[in-house]
Amino acid sequence: MIKKIDTDFGTYYFDSISFTLSSSPEYKNTSNTLDNLDDGILKKVVINISNSCNLSCSYCYADGGNYGMDNRVMDFDTADKIIQEIVSKGIKQINRLILFGGEPFLNIELFVYFIEKLSKFLNILKVETVTNGTVLNHRVKHMLNKFHPFLTISLDGPEVVHDRLRGKGSHRKTLRFIKYLKSIDYDNFEIASTYTRIHQKNGISREAIFKYFTEMDVHFNVNDVFSKNKVLIVKEMEKSLSERKTFIDTSIQNVIDCNEKAFISPILYDVLISMIYKSTNHTFCDDIDPSNTITFDVDGSKKLCFRFWGSHNSPNVETFNNKDNFSKCKDCWCRGMCIECVANVIDGYSTVINENGEFIECHKPELMEYCIQQIIYLSRDKERLSKLVNNFRRFIRYA
Ligand code: SF4
Ligand code: SF4
Repeated sequence: MIKKIDTDFGTYYFDSISFTLSSSPEYKNTSNTLDNLDDGILKKVVINISNSCNLSCSYCYADGGNYGMDNRVMDFDTADKIIQEIVSKGIKQINRLILFGGEPFLNIELFVYFIEKLSKFLNILKVETVTNGTVLNHRVKHMLNKFHPFLTISLDGPEVVHDRLRGKGSHRKTLRFIKYLKSIDYDNFEIASTYTRIHQKNGISREAIFKYFTEMDVHFNVNDVFSKNKVLIVKEMEKSLSERKTFIDTSIQNVIDCNEKAFISPILYDVLISMIYKSTNHTFCDDIDPSNTITFDVDGSKKLCFRFWGSHNSPNVETFNNKDNFSKCKDCWCRGMCIECVANVIDGYSTVINENGEFIECHKPELMEYCIQQIIYLSRDKERLSKLVNNFRRFIRYA
């Protein structure tokens, strides 16, 4: 599909299949995606090694880490069955091995076991985990030193809000963890922060959170909370379209300046990934396609994504994941660039589609068009454009 984009110095045509721009409306069907992986390569394996968590965060989508089931950690027999299953499929490479929880460092023995055992049979490009950063014992330190996994550490900002959301004393422990990482020059981590009404009630704006993490000198991202606890919810709609466009402008500048630790607009991120790497999203979330990703729950059962572990499974996942099931999306010019978390849709947290599968509203086409317009303006200055394209790879979070 061709999208006409008007600018002050002429009309351009964006081919939403090949993600290319041209001054002529001629249609070129030259789809060239990077997501066709060779046989034997799995994009992602996600394993729930601990259904337990030592915190009890007020907005946890996983019901305090156990996804509505009993608190438990995965045992070695289950781990062996999973390893056997992966190996028997003839997998030669896993691009991302994600060991997850609950709090995965409560089962550090199995964390190490999976890496060591799987590495005997196949190549693992990257090990990742998400942690609350409160478990720091000698086994965790040893594992970090030996395997150097990529860590996403949950920290919601200053102590006053973090402890209110995640429990008294948790901020101090997580900061101790981050200080430890810095003391050993461990830079393979980022902070994931959740922005809530509690921040607003304490007079802490999104900008203040950006400043807090910028001064901490860490890579970070800030996401609006999604929770059944309506008291915590900050609606995305509260950010006006003009504020979101300003954020896109600032983000473009941050990429040009190679300000790697800046958090950039997710909309710009999706546009640049598609335009630079020709990466198409066939469904709302291609990650839940079992030919790309295998996800194991704590009992060894397979689910389509970690958000469907425990009692959180849903029969609607595949229906809601299909863009063709929504009339607005069927003919949407930017559907190939659009990602929408299906778990958020099912849990009723999406601002685009509700939990009954009804389309609400979507501003992404307007914002994506704005991104492309800004890229066209930038193209008049070849040096800045080439900085945007070349620096962007430093902002890619997941290979
Ligand atoms: S209408 Fe919105 S949700 Fe649907 S494909 Fe387009 S951008 Fe995505
Ligand atoms: S459905 Fe949402 S949480 Fe699950 S893999 Fe996709 S984006 Fe991630």
